[in-house]
Amino acid sequence: MTKRIFRSILTVTLAALLACLVLIIGVLHAYFLERVEVELANQTVYIAQGVEQNGLDYFDGLQSRSRITWVAADGTVIYDNQEDASQMENHADREEIRDALILGHGQSERYSETLAQKTIYYALRLDDGSVLRASDSQYSVWLMVLQMLQPVAIVVLAALVLAGFLASRVARQIVEPINAIDVSNPGDETPYYDEITPLLAKIRSQNRQIQRQIAQLRCRQEEFAAITENMSEGFLVLDCKTTVLSYNAAALRLLRAETVPMDGEVSAYQLNREAGFRRCVEQALAGRHSEQLMEKDDSCRQVIASPVFQEEHLTGAVLVILDVTEKERRESLRREFTANVSHELKTPLTSILGTAEILGNGLVRSEDVSHFAGNIYKETRRLIQLVNDIIRLSQLDEGGSISDWSDVELQSLVREVLEQVRPAAEKRNITLEVRGQPETVRGVPQIVTEVVYNLCDNAVAYNRAGGRVTVTTGENPEGITLQVEDTGIGIPAEARDRIFERFYRVDKSHSTEGTGLGLSIVKHGAAYLGATVCLQSEEGKGSVFTLVFPRQGA
Ligand code: ADP
Repeated sequence: MTKRIFRSILTVTLAALLACLVLIIGVLHAYFLERVEVELANQTVYIAQGVEQNGLDYFDGLQSRSRITWVAADGTVIYDNQEDASQMENHADREEIRDALILGHGQSERYSETLAQKTIYYALRLDDGSVLRASDSQYSVWLMVLQMLQPVAIVVLAALVLAGFLASRVARQIVEPINAIDVSNPGDETPYYDEITPLLAKIRSQNRQIQRQIAQLRCRQEEFAAITENMSEGFLVLDCKTTVLSYNAAALRLLRAETVPMDGEVSAYQLNREAGFRRCVEQALAGRHSEQLMEKDDSCRQVIASPVFQEEHLTGAVLVILDVTEKERRESLRREFTANVSHELKTPLTSILGTAEILGNGLVRSEDVSHFAGNIYKETRRLIQLVNDIIRLSQLDEGGSISDWSDVELQSLVREVLEQVRPAAEKRNITLEVRGQPETVRGVPQIVTEVVYNLCDNAVAYNRAGGRVTVTTGENPEGITLQVEDTGIGIPAEARDRIFERFYRVDKSHSTEGTGLGLSIVKHGAAYLGATVCLQSEEGKGSVFTLVFPRQGA
């Protein structure tokens, strides 16, 4: 703007100076022309006196800058100081000569063939009727003008420099108050120029609008960040060059990223270099939806990538990263469980089928029939036990269709359970004992019974002949306790974490009775009741399973 104002002022000044120059030249020219004409007339009068006295001889010593022509009354040229008079044509028709013959003097300006330039003429009639003419070229007038122009040009140049300096100063002074306005926050005070008041009002209103919009955007951004940051799923937005545009903390955690994307300068490949992730990004940026599983160490993550199109142009990709470790673990447990169930069902069924086949063929002696029938009975019981355990486990998994909660007195429940296992205990001379004081817990009686039964059943099954099973009820700082202690074979350290898994058995040859689901029911049942179960065991000496129930009202 300053430059523009400067240029405008300078142009105007230049135009004014040029106009002045033209005017000065015009005035000077008119002035010098008049002077030349006067001089010419004076000179003619002076020479005319000399010619009247001395005739042609006067011209001999005459020194004149002007051209002098003497013309007879009939127009014949008598003398010319620049041309041969005899060669010159008759001058009677020349305007100034004609006027002089009639009026006594004449004056004209025209182009001279002889001098080949514009010429000023002055003619004077002598007493004898002849005419004396002096002429001078206009060139000499311009010469005079040019001589005068030199100082004028210096003055114009000086004026121009001064104009330039003043123009730059004025331009700066005009712009200064405008530059001083704080456009981002123009105050309410009256501006230096009234003309910009509406502009400032507009800027103020636009600033307010921009501030409002920025606040709204910030609010939305914060909402978005709050949502994405609290998501357990990873979220990543990429442009089509794989640059990370947006992400949440979960994405970095799930991708195990070492680099934190800053200023949109980090490529997605710098966050994770696993082949599955790279494949997923590549496919999404090729315009295809893609899903990949990434397994590393004990974790399993799923990456779902979708391309982003804007007006049919691929502009990037959105990636969602899920931690599917638990889901995959459950899936694999389910597969394992199905395989185990099939296997566990197949064994007794095969045995029943074989025995029934032998009985059906009539190949069995009558005294052996009861043994084979006993076999079928045992395997069928085992099958029923297995199916019941599976049903119970799935009920505990589902958490539904289980009886109502009530107060359960542990000591009397333990006594009932021990009565159930007593026949097996007596067979191997195992002593059953109840200790502690009566304790009441809040629970589902059926589940508490099943949990305690499974622990006592195992304590008998994995005991040594003549051993002891002691069940103690009591309390500790954590809650109400129920301890089942045996003097049996104990559990090897490496198996202690696994015995609660479905179908896991330390030594399958030890007891053909078990299903491998008892401790799973204990674990799930205890969890359902809000109780914890822990184990202490020493191989060859025995094991202690402790249930800790929450106190009532806790
Ligand atoms: P099972 O039907 O085989 O008893 P469980 O789930 O009840 O299945 O127990 C899993 C495994 O844990 C058993 O096979 C056994 O090897 C071991 N176990 C359970 N309780 C005891 C115990 N009191 N003493 C020694 N080993 C035990």
